[in-house]
Amino acid sequence: MTEQTVDHLVIGAGFAGLCAAIKLDEAGETDFVVVERGADVGGTWRDNTYPGAACDVPSQLYSFSFAPNPDWSMSFSPQPEIHAYIQRVARESGTLDRFRFETTVDDARWDEAQQRWVVRTTGPAGPTTYAARTVISGAGGLSEPRLPDIEGIEGFGGELFHSARWDHDVDLAGKRVAVIGTGASAIQIVPAIQPQVGHLDVYQRTAPWVMPRHDRRYPTIEKAALRHVPGLQKVYREAIYWGRESYVLPFTQAPGILAPVQQVAKRNIDKAISDPGLRAKVTPDFRMGCKRILISNAYYPALAADNADVVTDRITRVTPTGIVSTAPDGTETERPVDVIVVATGFHTTELPITEHITGREGHTLARQFEERGMAAYKGSTVPGFPNLFFVVGPNVGLGHSSMVFMIEAQVSYVVDAIRTMRTHRYAAVEVTEAAERAFNADLQRRMGRTVWSTGGCASWYLDKHGNNTTLWPRATFTFRALTRRFDVAAYAVTAPTPDREVVPA
Ligand code: NAP
Repeated sequence: MTEQTVDHLVIGAGFAGLCAAIKLDEAGETDFVVVERGADVGGTWRDNTYPGAACDVPSQLYSFSFAPNPDWSMSFSPQPEIHAYIQRVARESGTLDRFRFETTVDDARWDEAQQRWVVRTTGPAGPTTYAARTVISGAGGLSEPRLPDIEGIEGFGGELFHSARWDHDVDLAGKRVAVIGTGASAIQIVPAIQPQVGHLDVYQRTAPWVMPRHDRRYPTIEKAALRHVPGLQKVYREAIYWGRESYVLPFTQAPGILAPVQQVAKRNIDKAISDPGLRAKVTPDFRMGCKRILISNAYYPALAADNADVVTDRITRVTPTGIVSTAPDGTETERPVDVIVVATGFHTTELPITEHITGREGHTLARQFEERGMAAYKGSTVPGFPNLFFVVGPNVGLGHSSMVFMIEAQVSYVVDAIRTMRTHRYAAVEVTEAAERAFNADLQRRMGRTVWSTGGCASWYLDKHGNNTTLWPRATFTFRALTRRFDVAAYAVTAPTPDREVVPA
């Protein structure tokens, strides 16, 4: 067992963890480690290698503001390019020497006497225990695949894998393939594999709204201009940012405004699908925006292809050789299948890392979230868990814009918290119950008007009590304004005096 003392321990090396590492380093907080269970940086963009994987937010915005990339090939870049971008930014940041790959966090426990987090990890060199002043979790909300609880699925005799754990050794050519799910991942997978498979069954529980994808390749001359014309990339970024931000009003206050946009999505169906039965099947029965609005020009044509079927009957069980579904009148149909692709999403409303984090009062954060609901102050801090910061915590997700924007805002909050702690020699900062409750009461009040609550759908945005614990219900620039400075007044602080006196902030 190795023991090590560090100032800061960052969990995860995706966009969030990498941003934290870079900004800590820039602030002179160089004594940190980043522990990452994968073998590389990239997080979700390392894990999601499924055919057709690409970002549905334009790359000029879905990238770090401090690391612009004039070389994006497309307006919506494919996954390999985004992963390569993250790798390059990590390499050039000079922080990689402090990344510990293939290292899992087994347990993080607040030690009140030491005023430090004791974090037990397992990595290639065996177990290590870190004593860290702060823990910054960039473990992300889309990191743990959610497998559907379907009878018999473990006994399936063919190949079965989750969209985020794509098995590239399985050759789909000519095979009978089933895709379960019709979310953001599935609508990219379906058109990418449909031309090569023998037969494709798409199991749809809820039809999503799918808009045309206005993608384009950047010509060489435009890339050269983006590289050489001062400020041009910033202009692109700003234009995309404000275009996206125009969705905030309809999403959060006036969902009716999206009615004409919904018509565009309907036309997207009608253009690609002539069969009225199939058109009806894929037409959503909820208001646009309630679930993530998807974009694709190829999804509906793939569903309309001769070798594809959309199955809307409920899946009742999986047999060793097929999938059994049941029609509303009780009729069962078994469809034979060689490969099942499970595109059923992630454990988003539980934040799996919280099971491994034990706070000042001796219980896990998962238990606290289970009892009180998943909530944090500004998506970042939780009462009872001093010096623990989230990047992409509760209610920081977006339905319309770039998570990288939110990540940068949140990291600036965390770094300012650390700067404040150093300046005032605080050993610990812990958000007060009152501040956290007031913040979330306001947030949930705002949720009432949003399309996510009123749009007539069931989505992973909502927890089992119907509370939206995942999305940010205001403008992203408001989030940035709220996180620009660490507001120590919302925190109880502990000074590093011998008697660990708690001083009012
Ligand atoms: P998802 O949006 O949660 O979609 C899961 C799909 O599986 C839904 O269609 C769901 O149906 C279905 N499903 C779940 N359990 C099922 C079951 N037991 N039986 C049948 N169907 C079931 O997951 P995802 O597509 O992986 O996307 C997750 C998130 O990742 C997205 O919202 C987005 O934030 C992100 N993402 C982003 C991009 C991008 O381009 N930026 C691309 C991919 C993913 P219901 O709708 O009925 O629940």
